[in-house]
Amino acid sequence: METPNFSIEFFPPKTAEGAEKLRATRAKLSELHPKYFSVTFGAGGTTQRGTLDTVREILAAGEDAAPHLSCVGGTRESLRAILAEFKASGIKRVVALRGDLPSGYGAAGEFRYANELVEFIRAETGDWFHIEVAAYPEVHPQAKSPRDDLQAFVRKVNAGADAAITQYFYNADAYFQFVEQARKAGVTVPIVPGIMPITNYTQLMRFSDMCGAEIPRWVRLKLASFGDDTASIKEFGLDVVTGLAQRLLAGGAPGLHFYSMNQAAPTTALWQRLV
Ligand code: FAD
Repeated sequence: METPNFSIEFFPPKTAEGAEKLRATRAKLSELHPKYFSVTFGAGGTTQRGTLDTVREILAAGEDAAPHLSCVGGTRESLRAILAEFKASGIKRVVALRGDLPSGYGAAGEFRYANELVEFIRAETGDWFHIEVAAYPEVHPQAKSPRDDLQAFVRKVNAGADAAITQYFYNADAYFQFVEQARKAGVTVPIVPGIMPITNYTQLMRFSDMCGAEIPRWVRLKLASFGDDTASIKEFGLDVVTGLAQRLLAGGAPGLHFYSMNQAAPTTALWQRLV
């Protein structure tokens, strides 16, 4: 069996204090020996510098790191410059996304969909980068239909992606079905489930509404019933997510990608239950 592909995601800190906190978080999470850390990238250019600075710092510490790169609002010229900077920084992996334009931002720019970005990266840089793309077992919120969304995913992979990371979900069957359909459509690359620890009910509901992740009714009702009792929310959340991760790995998932939210404790607690 191949080594499971465990990776951990951060967002770039906005302040010096946030950067200091992230350093401490990373030091703790490094003890888990993830294959790589990834660092998100804000659409519209908000955190491009923060992404690159954070990735460089992780690489300098001797760990592997992948910047996320979104193409919406970008031009061929601006993306070419970013890729050149990535290469010059010794970056060998990238998570390639369309991204989302902030509302009222206007036209999408020269790239409409992520498959165009993957094609561009391959045309510009050959095999330099290991490219990950996003996958949506519960269907991307803007997709015309599940079928169209699957086809869009297949197009992205065929454009040259090496692997995929999914949006988070709490229904394991959605993942297994998605993988089965992708395989039938000829996709052979690893599809790694994205795992969102449950630590905060309000935040989870807000994120899930935005990205189209379904919180199963029984999970939602139980979390709501704990009110301000954060210890119970965390304990129950850990049980739910551990069960999900165990089921995914037992069912053949090639690894897990943890949405750490820049916190060490939830990912560490989960990890300790899995190993
Ligand atoms: P695409 O694959 O281009 O798909 C977007 C939508 O367009 C889908 O509904 C798809 O069905 C549809 N579509 C695709 N091709 C076509 C076509 N030819 N015709 C019609 N419809 C089409 N966002 C950030 O801003 N920064 C990040 O760092 C970031 N990291 C992420 C990491 C992961 C693992 C995931 C799962 C998501 C991340 N996102 C991030 C969110 C992501 O940018 C949004 O979900 C975005 O709306 C879609 O990006 P995509 O790359 O999946 O787009």
